[in-house]
Amino acid sequence: MKRFENLIGGEKCPAASGKWLRSLDPYRNEDWCEIPDSDEVDVDRAVEAARDAFQSDAWRSLTPTARGALLRRVGDLIAENAERLAELEVRDNGKLLSEMLAQLKYIPQWYYYFGGLADKIEGGVLPIDKADHFVYTNWEPLGVIAAITAWNSPLLLLTWKLAPGLAAGNTFVIKPSEFASASTLAFADLFEEAGFPAGVVNVLTGTGRGAGQRLVSHPDVAKVAFTGSEATGRAISSSAGANLKHATLELGGKSANIVFADADLQAAAAGVASGIFAATGQTCMAGSRLLVQREVYEEFLQAICTIAEGIKLGNPVDPDTQMGPVANAPHYQKVLGMISQAMDDGAELAYGGNPHTDASGGLFIQPTVFRDVSNESRLAQEEIFGPVLAVIPFDTEEDAIAIANGTPFGLAAGVWTTNMSRTFRISQKLKSGTVWVNTYRALSYIAPFGGMKASGLGRESGQEMIKSYMQTKTVWINNSTEAVTNPFIMRLS
Ligand code: NAP
Repeated sequence: MKRFENLIGGEKCPAASGKWLRSLDPYRNEDWCEIPDSDEVDVDRAVEAARDAFQSDAWRSLTPTARGALLRRVGDLIAENAERLAELEVRDNGKLLSEMLAQLKYIPQWYYYFGGLADKIEGGVLPIDKADHFVYTNWEPLGVIAAITAWNSPLLLLTWKLAPGLAAGNTFVIKPSEFASASTLAFADLFEEAGFPAGVVNVLTGTGRGAGQRLVSHPDVAKVAFTGSEATGRAISSSAGANLKHATLELGGKSANIVFADADLQAAAAGVASGIFAATGQTCMAGSRLLVQREVYEEFLQAICTIAEGIKLGNPVDPDTQMGPVANAPHYQKVLGMISQAMDDGAELAYGGNPHTDASGGLFIQPTVFRDVSNESRLAQEEIFGPVLAVIPFDTEEDAIAIANGTPFGLAAGVWTTNMSRTFRISQKLKSGTVWVNTYRALSYIAPFGGMKASGLGRESGQEMIKSYMQTKTVWINNSTEAVTNPFIMRLS
């Protein structure tokens, strides 16, 4: 069985304990590789390596321009290795090769963009209100960043943290999900190939309990950059707060796709399907609630069920496949459990609801559609992270806004309408970090992404994000030779 090793301080190594975890290929439903089962000893070594690298001349003496050049070089290497890395991701999490390859080909853009920004972060000279003082501000990196990621798009989620964080001058210890770590371990090698000093990028694998908890509470970690579930996000936020660390939290969602009667219904149906069935519904931004205006409710529901019925499930590397398996065994059981719980709670099934079986033995679940769902039900309130759509009718624009905002989450929303004044009104009132109008699941390195309410704290991507990996320093220089008139009061005049 193939083995991948940690990267700590520039060296490939197994866990100090010698223990390994097995990773499942969800299409074949069999283990395909082993990854180190790291624990506190490995975490402490990795943080020490990152701290030493942060303080080293090799890293500190690089100008921001030189850091930018390294980021652009790593972007080129990712592009050159896109197919190999995408294949590893597919083997580990069962997502479509076409989707993962598209991600890998686009990921270099974050490194080019933030590489370009590295030498454009300027401090300022302050027009200070005290005579003879020269005061300026500087932006400095935070230090060691702990990046903890989910299994659904490991390299994309990691890139959202690494590209701005490295451009800002930090060093990293990365812990990917135990369910899909192989691509991150292979990816890490590219940073040294690009010329980053050893120890700037470290990766260790292991469980959340075994390695993750120690990493987020380690005294030498300055910031935790986390993508994962709401429950883990709350635990990490408490730990980061107790240990006075910076934290960004990219968490789950229960996003609404809102279809008005005046929409281009064909385009809307394709957009709604892409929001929930693409990636087998395993995306944070899944449009898992479909709100349809009552005049077109039956017609639109029928269109969605027809799309669901026609979806081709199968081998994720086959270009004709539209939906792959669920990524891992515990998650497969969880999604099926939530479907049967919804039925026990009285939800009405319009399509699917069962495992899908074929000769591969893969962890497939049918695209599933529930109709006439109450927004108060668990089906409408809890993130499933699978191909399960809750369809809810509405009458007016105000109803749609109230239903869309009526969950603890606030990651994204989709609006389908041809009424332009409605698009401005409704996008102001929706409480979500992203609003897509007549499109869905569109992303860019230029556009901030992140959640309101229980969907998270902070944003990723976009110019401002580099500063979330930095802090200001204010420097006061007194040019006067006169002694302080009264040393026992604050210098206010
Ligand atoms: P998860 O169970 O919360 O795990 C996320 C990461 O945290 C994994 O690496 C996990 O390690 C680690 N972890 C678990 N417990 C920990 C602890 N106590 N301390 C430190 N680390 C810990 O989430 P998941 O199931 O992997 O991912 C699915 C979730 O991610 C969904 O809720 C989805 O919406 C969200 N997500 C959000 C975004 C976004 O941008 N907002 C993007 C993608 C996914 P183990 O795997 O070893 O447990």
